[in-house]
Amino acid sequence: MLMPSILQAGGVKVKPLLLRSGHWFNISALNDIDIHTAVSILREQYAAWKKPAVSIVAQCERNPYKVLVSCIISLRTKDEVTAKASERLFARAENPADMAELSIDEIASLIYPAGFYRNKSEQINEISRRLVSDYGSTVPEEIDELLVFKGVGRKTANLVLTLGFGKQGICVDTHVHRICNRWGYISTKSPEESEKMLRKKLPAEYWIPINDLLVAFGQNICHPVSPRCTVCRLSGLCSRVGVTVSR
Ligand code: SF4
Repeated sequence: MLMPSILQAGGVKVKPLLLRSGHWFNISALNDIDIHTAVSILREQYAAWKKPAVSIVAQCERNPYKVLVSCIISLRTKDEVTAKASERLFARAENPADMAELSIDEIASLIYPAGFYRNKSEQINEISRRLVSDYGSTVPEEIDELLVFKGVGRKTANLVLTLGFGKQGICVDTHVHRICNRWGYISTKSPEESEKMLRKKLPAEYWIPINDLLVAFGQNICHPVSPRCTVCRLSGLCSRVGVTVSR
């Protein structure tokens, strides 16, 4: 069977793949139909995977304040540590008013050993105080207002919107950025750029669930270093851009 000519994808030459069925698959054209297939495969497997800690907090109770605080705790921290630290902290204070009563030292000792626990305890204290004084103890629903708070970046703000309020947003963290680029679905240099591209390209129905699915997928299969391509059910769709070592 003749191989179709080499195709151009974003200026990069890409070879079509020969599938087991004998058909050629153009990996440069991972389009909306393929993203539907990819998400449906991810959803089938999601139940068997370890879940991201912040998603567990959100699944227990849709509470924007808890999502915000647990997301701050989760930055550069393992999920097991985030889950336990969030549980200890929320057992003492689960709303801005109660949290504002705790000292920075108390918050630090409750979230220890989360990474940068001292800085995070200061951020949690300051955010809680501002929520009480300026927002009537409620978390604002607008991304621009959330971004004003110390320690709140686009990832955290989008997660509060999506998991906390169920509003449209795309939370692009390191997993979403890396995996969408490996697929060849986007070609970007930073999570911020990825968010912009995904806002243009990703079907709206996947904006909220994509973070949860890809964080779980990234932690279980498509690891940052040496992804498990041999057992990956998306290998037929994925162009493996930039993957040099896999297993
Ligand atoms: S084939 Fe490999 S690089 Fe592509 S999604 Fe699967 S694990 Fe990731």
